[in-house]
Amino acid sequence: MSIDLQPVRGTKDLIGEDARRHFHVIETARRVAATYGYDEWSTPIFEDTRVFARGLGDTSDVVMKEMYTFSDRGGESLTLRPEATAGVCRALVTNGLTQSLPQKVFYAGPMFRYERPQKGRYRQFHQIDIEVLGSAEPLADAEVIACGWTILRELGVSQDTVLELNTLGDRESRDAYRTALIAYFTEHKAKLSEDSLNRLERNPLRVVDSKDEGDKAIVAGAPTIDPYLTEPAAAFFAKLQEHLARFGVPYIRNPRIVRGLDYYSHTAFEFVTTRLGSQGTVMGGGRYDGLVEEMGGPHTPCIGWAAGVERLSMLMQNPPPAPASVVVIPIGDESEGAALDVVQSLRQAGIRAEIGFRGTVKRRMERANKQGARAAVLLGETELAKGVAQVKNLITGEQAEIPLSELAARLK
Ligand code: ATP
Ligand code: MG
Repeated sequence: MSIDLQPVRGTKDLIGEDARRHFHVIETARRVAATYGYDEWSTPIFEDTRVFARGLGDTSDVVMKEMYTFSDRGGESLTLRPEATAGVCRALVTNGLTQSLPQKVFYAGPMFRYERPQKGRYRQFHQIDIEVLGSAEPLADAEVIACGWTILRELGVSQDTVLELNTLGDRESRDAYRTALIAYFTEHKAKLSEDSLNRLERNPLRVVDSKDEGDKAIVAGAPTIDPYLTEPAAAFFAKLQEHLARFGVPYIRNPRIVRGLDYYSHTAFEFVTTRLGSQGTVMGGGRYDGLVEEMGGPHTPCIGWAAGVERLSMLMQNPPPAPASVVVIPIGDESEGAALDVVQSLRQAGIRAEIGFRGTVKRRMERANKQGARAAVLLGETELAKGVAQVKNLITGEQAEIPLSELAARLK
């Protein structure tokens, strides 16, 4: 009997060019985030379910429908993390860091959501993410956005994305706006989708975010938050825009961007593209001033974003090239020991170097060409006696005799 094993629906393997694109996105983000002074954290992939589902009022799709939640053998309810932010905030509190603020965190790793898989939407996907924990200043919001934009630029995808910016104001602004939204949507109740009717009861801001085509027509006529912003909230938003201009980050205002959760306030933004069909949001974030408190910590204003690595990988026009090795080939068994010394010395000099495990010289040369090696270093007894090697440039076909002592420097 044979078994037929397949990857789990909505997951995929990263091999070859897929892997190179993927890791290029993460490494670029890691490098840029470091220049902005962010430290990388890593937290567990699974957490106590309460880290993600925090009581009533959380009407997000993620918590309501998409979580991978299970009981472990000890009967505890655990959840595979659907996002990084909640775990980072939990870690801030449980590591006693709420007295050492701000913390600037970079994060990269797999996330899990039970969604309908399609292009750009998976059940295991990966996010890069940054968070500034413990800063209430609009400068933090601007810097977080500028860092995200710099990453998109370094990846060569910024020209394919647009930053859409909004504010949700402070609590007072939002309460007034919510009342206005309830009044407006109640008037149009008959035409709203069932999802939106539910949201209207529990979190009317979320109706603005509806993806339903029928809802969208109604949302188009809904009030925007601007007339409801308090003076400090309007000043905060003005300052943010001033800083963004200084950073040279282009954006447009989109009053329909909301982050529906109760702990969000002020800044909300998305980098969107038209190149990925309906999975057009590549990066999304905002200010959340109540989450650390919900984790049992003190009131801690935070701002951050998360971006989908798979979506960024797909957007990237030019995949990073496959790395090319230098292949060391012993001619005859007697040269094998010397070949090992040479390959090790190249590696020590930081050169990607390999030695074929077996085969004739001809077979090894064929394999070197096939794997896209950039050079072959041929070592025979004659060469070894003279302290040299025959080096063949596999791109130009040129061959030269090079002293072993100069080999690493010449191949660099
Ligand atoms: P969407 O509206 O596409 O469902 P979202 O609002 O659920 O996105 P966030 O929770 O803000 O997404 O996550 C941030 C980013 O992570 C998204 O902008 C997207 O690039 C990526 N992302 C989210 N869910 C998935 C998924 N299932 N597969 C691949 N990438 C995802
Ligand atoms: Mg989603």
